[in-house]
Amino acid sequence: MPSVRELYQEIILDHNRSPRNFRRMENPTRSVEGFNPLCGDHYTIYLRIDGGCIADVSFEGAGCAISKASASVMSTVVKGRTVTEAEDMFEKFHRLVTGKPTSGADVEALGKLAAFAGVSEFPARVKCASLAWHTMHAALSSDAASVSTE
Ligand code: ZN
Repeated sequence: MPSVRELYQEIILDHNRSPRNFRRMENPTRSVEGFNPLCGDHYTIYLRIDGGCIADVSFEGAGCAISKASASVMSTVVKGRTVTEAEDMFEKFHRLVTGKPTSGADVEALGKLAAFAGVSEFPARVKCASLAWHTMHAALSSDAASVSTE
């Protein structure tokens, strides 16, 4: 049996190797570009919002393994959720990767996202892991066309 840490690394490797929802979206409701100048990560997040729900989500761009895997996992967990639920997951994920206290229930709710807990030990990596989430948050909560972690 693999250890929990190995399992988490496997999730990140898998999503980096074959990212999910990695495509341009035709006619998205919102598309926002996200930059992490520190590492060079650069993605565009596409959202189709229908009746307060995230009907579809996709992304394209390039960056390090952590940033790409995080965008991929994010796309799989927010798809089909309400905007409110997605924003709630953003809050929980942000607490996790910045090393703020999280309850067991929160970690359980995060599921595969818990794979990124280890980045809280590496401040530079926190921006890689949270770039896609900040970009999605901007798409849901503002009219910004682009966001930067700097
Ligand atoms: Zn990065």
